[in-house]
Amino acid sequence: MSRYDGAFDSEPNEWNGWGLSQALACERKLCFKDSPLFQGVPLQPKTLRMFDMGSAAEMVVKLNHPDMQLTMQQFKVRVLDRGGKLDGVIVDNAIKEAFIWECKSMNSRAFAKFKQGVKAGKGVRELKPQYYAQAQLYMHAMNEYGITFYGKPIVQTIFTIIERDMGDISVTVFRYDNVFVSSIVLKRIDKVNAAKAEGAILGVPNYLEPWECNYCDFKSTCKAKPQSKFKT
Ligand code: SF4
Repeated sequence: MSRYDGAFDSEPNEWNGWGLSQALACERKLCFKDSPLFQGVPLQPKTLRMFDMGSAAEMVVKLNHPDMQLTMQQFKVRVLDRGGKLDGVIVDNAIKEAFIWECKSMNSRAFAKFKQGVKAGKGVRELKPQYYAQAQLYMHAMNEYGITFYGKPIVQTIFTIIERDMGDISVTVFRYDNVFVSSIVLKRIDKVNAAKAEGAILGVPNYLEPWECNYCDFKSTCKAKPQSKFKT
């Protein structure tokens, strides 16, 4: 059995708007989500099923290592006023360290592209910045809560991706990056929260990932509104 040293008193209330998994998403979309004046168009069942398959992937990825255990699964954390649900905590009893576990699924094309990127020396931060930020926020929350295993803080994430066609798995490990969290991610959350407080909708950001508009439930609202920041 692993030892669990920290006081963990986190059953945050359900959050409004958006959560930690979206901290690096299009800030304009996040403003729409926060505003009571806009209603997203429900996504197509096909898209929702695709998202559900991502959650289901966690069930099929089994840890098969004599020293490693998935000790905590699917629990909620909070950073600033935003909540999130991490996939689990894995403990390695041999080296007495714990890791955040994040599990995603991808279609074969996206999976192959990710693997190629890793082979070319790129990290998750570069290849999948939103996933990277999400895991960083979870590690940040664990550190803020003072959670430790075997007396050590949790400063690493085991990031698995399952390929949906053939079941291949990619495993990447990365460390907590406090500078990235405080200089980029928390600032982004603050910026959207400030817009929310003043009832503003931010313009289209220049960091937008090309696929993001395709899966945006505010696509038609976005097109119909002025693209620069406006007050609601
Ligand atoms: S349609 Fe694209 S730019 Fe507009 S809010 Fe959605 S993600 Fe952002």
